[in-house]
Amino acid sequence: MTDMGLFLAVPTALVGLVVGSFLNVVIYRVPRRESIAWPASQCPACGHPIRWYDNVPVVSWAALGGKCRDCGGRISLRYPLVESLTGASFLIAALVIGTEPRLLVTAAFIAVLIAITFIDIDHRIIPDRIVLPATLIGLAASIALQPARWWVFIAAALGAGGFLFMLGLIWAGAWASGTSRWPS
Ligand SMILES: [Zn+2]
Repeated sequence: MTDMGLFLAVPTALVGLVVGSFLNVVIYRVPRRESIAWPASQCPACGHPIRWYDNVPVVSWAALGGKCRDCGGRISLRYPLVESLTGASFLIAALVIGTEPRLLVTAAFIAVLIAITFIDIDHRIIPDRIVLPATLIGLAASIALQPARWWVFIAAALGAGGFLFMLGLIWAGAWASGTSRWPS
């Protein structure tokens, strides 16, 4: 842990809460093949657009008692949970890593992991639309930060990816149930 890590901790946690709020949108929309940019967040029950002051991570959910201001429909505890989880993970990353550029890469990696974890729980898929770009960007950013160790990152990506790919091939159920497919 570093002093600078401590200095960074609070702003990084706040950024984490906001990123977590965005991840809720990603988790809901990406598997449904909806745009993550448009329209703005809506109530899942009545479709009413969420006002900006009702869209403050964790705080709004608590203030409204987990209910939509318009229709009174229940808003899942999942939303503040994903926001808190992202905020806490970013906080820990800042404390451990401090003010190194690596913190950005780590935070992005955490965000991707949280998004695909909850999409996997909901739909039993891990979308290529997230994994493929994230892999390329993560690899490029890691090599840019530590060019001398480029082969370590390539080997780690091939090793981890290859292992999971083998599991997918061996576990026939993955093909039969359509949870794993060739990129189309
Ligand atoms: Zn509503």
